[in-house]
Amino acid sequence: MTVIEVSELTVRYGAAVAVDGVSLTVEPGELVALIGPNGAGKSTVVNTLSGLVAPASGSVAVRGRLAHVPEGRQVFGELTVEDNLRLGGWRYKERDTAPIFAVLPKLVELRHRRAGLLSGGEQQMVAVGRALMSRPDVLVVDELSLGLAPLVVADLVAHLKELNTTGGLAVLLIEQNARLALDLCSRAYVLEAGRIVAEGPSAELAASDRVSGAYLGGVVADG
Ligand code: ATP
Repeated sequence: MTVIEVSELTVRYGAAVAVDGVSLTVEPGELVALIGPNGAGKSTVVNTLSGLVAPASGSVAVRGRLAHVPEGRQVFGELTVEDNLRLGGWRYKERDTAPIFAVLPKLVELRHRRAGLLSGGEQQMVAVGRALMSRPDVLVVDELSLGLAPLVVADLVAHLKELNTTGGLAVLLIEQNARLALDLCSRAYVLEAGRIVAEGPSAELAASDRVSGAYLGGVVADG
């Protein structure tokens, strides 16, 4: 059954239309990207998925458990890494962090450190770990790569891939970094000024003039 189904979604902030008739789906175990420039409406779409923003029209259905890694990470800076993780498991009586340390082993040595003092990449890992504590069927990641060094991003991507292959986790990746998003995800949507202007298999999009020219610096991706 489709995990995320957005149909003809329109969202307004006052008189301004931020999202205009957007439809998208994520199937179980699928890696899907939503790419587009600043202000295109990407965060608005994901915020309707977690109920932070209400649709003006259209509908949003989430089947299964959704966890959101918000833009800017938003870890609880005064708390330790371990306590940040535990907060992600608030709905469970048993908040065992061991499975998270198993998939994100770098967090083990950081577990007693205050999250606010960690590097950006480490904080992003905490934010991913915290989201995983809710044992989601689908992870929505808003700007995974924002402000992070390429090697750190590559490491996070490898973890997401592993969670997908071994645990069947579905991911909706919101990214300004189109190359990263198209590399990781098999399918993608391109959002511009609130509308989906292109969609399809990542390889086809990467090869298209529209995406290649505007988002990949005109270089057609190989593979
Ligand atoms: P970015 O990549 O910069 O985060 P985005 O694609 O996520 O951009 P949104 O943050 O969804 O875009 O914003 C879409 C449009 O809605 C923008 O024009 C933005 O200025 C506007 N907007 C977003 N949030 C609000 C708000 N709370 N009130 C009014 N306008 C908003």
